[in-house]
Amino acid sequence: MTTHDLCIIGAGFCGSAVAAGLVRAGFPGSIALFESRVTPGPGVAYSPPSPRLLLNVPANKMGMWADDPADFVTWLGSSGKRFEPAAFLPRAWYGEYLAARLQEAIATSEGRLRVIPSPAIAADRTAAGLWHITSERETVTSPRLVLAPGNFRPGPPAAFENIAAPWWCPDPWTNAAHAPPRDGERILIIGSGLTMVDVCISLTSRGERPRLTVLSRHGLLPCVHASPGPDQLTPVPPTPGQSLHQVFIHVRREARRIMRAGGDWRAAVDCLRPITPALWAGFSTRDHARFMQRLRAYWDVHRHRVPAEVVARIVELKQRNLIRILAGNVKAVADRGPAADITWRERGSGRLETATFDRVINCTGARTSITASPLLTALATSGHIRSEELGLGLLTDPQGRAIDAQGQPQPTLWALGALRRGTLWESSAVPELRMQAAAIVRDLCPR
Ligand SMILES: Cc1cc2nc3c(=O)[nH]c(=O)nc-3n(C[C@H](O)[C@H](O)[C@H](O)COP(=O)(O)OP(=O)(O)OC[C@H]3O[C@@H](n4cnc5c(N)ncnc54)[C@H](O)[C@@H]3O)c2cc1C
Repeated sequence: MTTHDLCIIGAGFCGSAVAAGLVRAGFPGSIALFESRVTPGPGVAYSPPSPRLLLNVPANKMGMWADDPADFVTWLGSSGKRFEPAAFLPRAWYGEYLAARLQEAIATSEGRLRVIPSPAIAADRTAAGLWHITSERETVTSPRLVLAPGNFRPGPPAAFENIAAPWWCPDPWTNAAHAPPRDGERILIIGSGLTMVDVCISLTSRGERPRLTVLSRHGLLPCVHASPGPDQLTPVPPTPGQSLHQVFIHVRREARRIMRAGGDWRAAVDCLRPITPALWAGFSTRDHARFMQRLRAYWDVHRHRVPAEVVARIVELKQRNLIRILAGNVKAVADRGPAADITWRERGSGRLETATFDRVINCTGARTSITASPLLTALATSGHIRSEELGLGLLTDPQGRAIDAQGQPQPTLWALGALRRGTLWESSAVPELRMQAAAIVRDLCPR
């Protein structure tokens, strides 16, 4: 057993930004950073299975430091790569950047920052108030703990719950999901968001010609990024404290006003970004539930957009009849050995359709409930953290400190990233996450 002044679980963007940020800020103590992947730094998002997958934020906004958003561009400049600062660059490059910055921090820390290459499997607090974190490799005790486990693997849609068959790919980030397809291979992708886009690009990146079917409840695809024109009207943001209905009406009105003046609707969505946590906090619990049921699919496609070159690729696949996008719900699954018969109910017509597929890939999105993690479930059972009511991670205070079962912020336990969605809603992209990391660094290492 070893003792450290701080323990961090997860070395993706968030855990690395906290650990390296602390070294950068002169944190005098020792830090243990648990990571289950082979390379610490890139995490799931920036360890892409295909080099053709791109960031969905321009490079000059992807720096890991809140006080230096251009740091990624600075690193690219020193790496010898050719790039445009405002371009959507390969995600693999970003993974290299995170791994490099973390290694630099480890080197400058003179032994104070250490990666433990093992998944943390249990955590609890001792009577003396120390966090006790267990992994197969090492057990660590620490007076402070940061939870940065990232996104959980997606759960299976109901009809696939007990399926274990060679055609079923429950996790879209495995090699099985991205294995090069045969020409004419019939592939069903369930879900039509950013993960689906990645999978389609990866499966066709070497000129393969599979027959792709995309099925999601609404059949909506992510919108494309666009730069505002020079005469774009400035949108008026809604006021925190307004109801979901009021905010929805306001945003739609602003988007129409801007479009009537020849501008772009995206400005009305983008102006929400800095105030989303305040708007979300102002909504009632009923509004949160209503948003999840009725608006979320529309929000996701308007807010989480993709670069134009990515959309062009999907359009090209459509023109070549290699992809069809459907709206509906899977109703039945029949395992036929190497393939499966899938039956779905078409949205709108209500018709039942059945087709045979050689591969089915689950792109329904990350699970958000802490019940997806035994470690977090154990922390909740012991009352150290409290699940958010709709299952969107756990409750935190504005500094990112976890709220315990009694409703009190824990002075020695922080969380960041996807775990904070229930508190902030906007808690997934680097521009927000680096602010969360910086807040924890300030809390632990006040200047
Ligand atoms: C495919 C994809 C693409 C994305 N692209 C962009 C983009 O272009 N721009 C953008 O701003 N955002 C993007 N995002 C959003 C992304 O969520 C964040 O940018 C960021 O990567 C999240 O970092 P994280 O550290 O919270 O999670 P992750 O990157 O998932 O890292 C969490 C890490 O914790 C480790 N871990 C988990 N549990 C344990 C445990 N018990 N013990 C040890 N280690 C553990 C995991 O192995 C993982 O490495 C993307 C997300 C995905 C999924």
